[in-house]
Amino acid sequence: MFSYWETKHFFQYDLIVVGSGFVGLSTAIHFKKKHPKASVLILERGIFPTGASTKNAGFACFGSLTEILDDFWQMTQKEVVALVERRYLGINSIRKKFGDKALGYRHSFGYELLDEQQLSAAEQIADINKILKGIFKDDVFSEVRKKERLGFNDSIKKVIKNKFEGELDPGKYMKVLWDLTQAEGIKILTGVSVVEIQKDEGVVIAEDAGGEQVFEFKANQIAICTNAFTEKLWKESEVQPGRGLILLSKPLDFKVPWQGTFHMDKGYVYFRQIDGRLLLGGARNIDKAGENSLKFEINPVIKTHLQKLATEVIFPGKEIEWETEWTGIMAFGNKKSPLIQAVGEKAAAAVRLGGMGVAIGWQVGKELAVVLSE
Ligand SMILES: Cc1cc2nc3c(=O)[nH]c(=O)nc-3n(C[C@H](O)[C@H](O)[C@H](O)COP(=O)(O)OP(=O)(O)OC[C@H]3O[C@@H](n4cnc5c(N)ncnc54)[C@H](O)[C@@H]3O)c2cc1C
Repeated sequence: MFSYWETKHFFQYDLIVVGSGFVGLSTAIHFKKKHPKASVLILERGIFPTGASTKNAGFACFGSLTEILDDFWQMTQKEVVALVERRYLGINSIRKKFGDKALGYRHSFGYELLDEQQLSAAEQIADINKILKGIFKDDVFSEVRKKERLGFNDSIKKVIKNKFEGELDPGKYMKVLWDLTQAEGIKILTGVSVVEIQKDEGVVIAEDAGGEQVFEFKANQIAICTNAFTEKLWKESEVQPGRGLILLSKPLDFKVPWQGTFHMDKGYVYFRQIDGRLLLGGARNIDKAGENSLKFEINPVIKTHLQKLATEVIFPGKEIEWETEWTGIMAFGNKKSPLIQAVGEKAAAAVRLGGMGVAIGWQVGKELAVVLSE
């Protein structure tokens, strides 16, 4: 039961955005910039964003050497280059917009560890650098000469450096987006779960956390920014969830001989130092079927695999005490590029960000705001 005032003032908007991750907030901000007088509401089912944007590893990356080489099996050269360019421009655009300090951005370089099986990738460095020259105007990848100094296990045969990669703090990134959302006069309601969207009519049906109260909002436009959780609201999207696990150690009691962001296993495994701790995550490829899940649970097989990597490969012979762990859910599909399109008379979506939303989320929101304004 709603009061006269609630009914009169709280249910009708120019734009309703569903989901308050990087993409939802970026969409709302870009739309408001284009239409300063528009009323914009964001609906988020969690108290915080509850998908991937505050759960990720904070790599400001655009693809490791083996990941890019792997992409050539599924995509044309033009598509691979376009994907890398989109990610790299995405990173540059948030750095320019918010500043490195506000994002906690450090240009600490990216590295990839190659074992015997991946060794042949190093022979492709010159070719890949040539292919990417148009974007970076310089060589991206090079071999680290004295890799022994980094202290990895002998199974690591080569270490490849990427001089255009960096890292940021996803919590800080989210905070600057929140601040801007507020400054633009955009409303965010949290603890509201959208259960149905009538895409031609501009109707959004939502429930409160207990499922006790049902709300029927109306909007001229609806933006679906629910990434992995999209199928419930837009079946045809065929978005597949992909869960990712992150482990964080207690402060390390030894000196770490490296800094930067590190990739292994075609980008499936990643690690970096944060506040004197080891952040280690990924390995979804160990159990892809099990990780095709919307549940925020820990896969014990993957956890054990990551813990072994820490003490056998990354810090051989050292003991690591783990402090915490968490999972987030990404979205994948038949293509690596995001899905940005109109999905009805009054609705459009931007979903399927894969493992690159830190890099491309802001730009994807900008593109969705254009679709919504057409
Ligand atoms: C473990 C992990 C590590 C990662 N590491 C990196 C990295 O290092 N670098 C990188 O670039 N990317 C990384 N990513 C990917 C990146 O985090 C995502 O691509 C990005 O956050 C996606 O943003 P989004 O806004 O599309 O989705 P999300 O952040 O998932 O936002 C979707 C929002 O919609 C809300 N929602 C869903 N359904 C409803 C509903 N029915 N009603 C209301 N609200 C709803 C959810 O609660 C959520 O807050 C990682 C992801 C994970 C999980």
